[in-house]
Amino acid sequence: MSEIISQEKLRRLVGEWIPAGTRVYGPRRVKPGLVLYASLKAADELLLDGYVRPANSIKEVVFPRHEVLYSYRLEGKKISLGDPEPLSAEQIVVGARPCDAASLPILDHVFNWDYRDSFYNRRRELTTVITVACPRHDAHCFCTSVGLAPDAERGSDVLLIDLGDGSYEARCATEKGRKLLAGRTEQSSRIGRVPPGPEPKFDPSAIRSILEGNFDNPLWPELTLRCMGCGACSYSCPTCHCFDIADEGNARAGVRVKNWDACQFGLFTLHASGHNPRTKQGQRQRQRLLHKFSVYPTKFGEVLCTGCGNCTRNCPVSLGVQTVLQQAVKRIPVTNGSEAAARGA
Ligand code: SF4
Ligand code: SF4
Repeated sequence: MSEIISQEKLRRLVGEWIPAGTRVYGPRRVKPGLVLYASLKAADELLLDGYVRPANSIKEVVFPRHEVLYSYRLEGKKISLGDPEPLSAEQIVVGARPCDAASLPILDHVFNWDYRDSFYNRRRELTTVITVACPRHDAHCFCTSVGLAPDAERGSDVLLIDLGDGSYEARCATEKGRKLLAGRTEQSSRIGRVPPGPEPKFDPSAIRSILEGNFDNPLWPELTLRCMGCGACSYSCPTCHCFDIADEGNARAGVRVKNWDACQFGLFTLHASGHNPRTKQGQRQRQRLLHKFSVYPTKFGEVLCTGCGNCTRNCPVSLGVQTVLQQAVKRIPVTNGSEAAARGA
């Protein structure tokens, strides 16, 4: 038996959660042609179909673009520090894509590695993710090349699969998800099915050997020559997580904040000495690929990419991971004999 919930009932639930003080986020059309994950003020703002995926990612819900860590004030010789208000509001993301939900357990590694980031972890505890399986994909999607699928449950508390009649099969994957929908679903014998995802486009382990064996290959700067260093790829990526710590205010009072940063910016690696180990955009592009397909897997055992395609979809010059890696696979011979695997064959 399966559990089902109608779209109307789901909207009614959203309409109950918002006035009860829960922060509800979901896909919202913010202007013609642009769908973003955004805070919802009313249930009818939630957009559940008619697009491939929002242009941003749900990482913003657990890792905000700008976050105050503490405040400081100097009075005479006395320095006082103040904590921000403790995080306590429950958050629900409704209508996440599986490639967004899957980014959360991937991000958990880095925010619990040599230092446990209490801000990130508190937001994770307070967040419940309801995912809707993908009814369609576009040329930029490659979830199946990184071990995921249009109905992957990873990172979701509930996965909804459209039954085509205004209702969803609701697969509760965690206790949080079960608790949220307890008494709100009906039993059914119907099982949701999604259309096949994109054909696999490459094998991450073969990509890794190409990257590791070709650090100085002139192809990287050549392939990425048109990159403008705008950072749209990193900011819209569900797994990119670089940040900078800055003090805002003056010597007497202010706040210490955590702001998003991106490896595609020229100042990202600028040392206080004036030395910059990555002065060229091609080096920064190679770094992004190496981090995702070599460094992160070495450290945490999985790639730092869910194949969402946002880095290509949002790139003003059509670069992004898939574009560059597909060219690299075509033009750099694989030295470990896994050429066919690299091509996804
Ligand atoms: S790859 Fe595209 S999106 Fe990323 S920094 Fe370069 S131009 Fe911007
Ligand atoms: S690297 Fe690109 S495809 Fe992979 S998760 Fe980030 S935005 Fe999505």
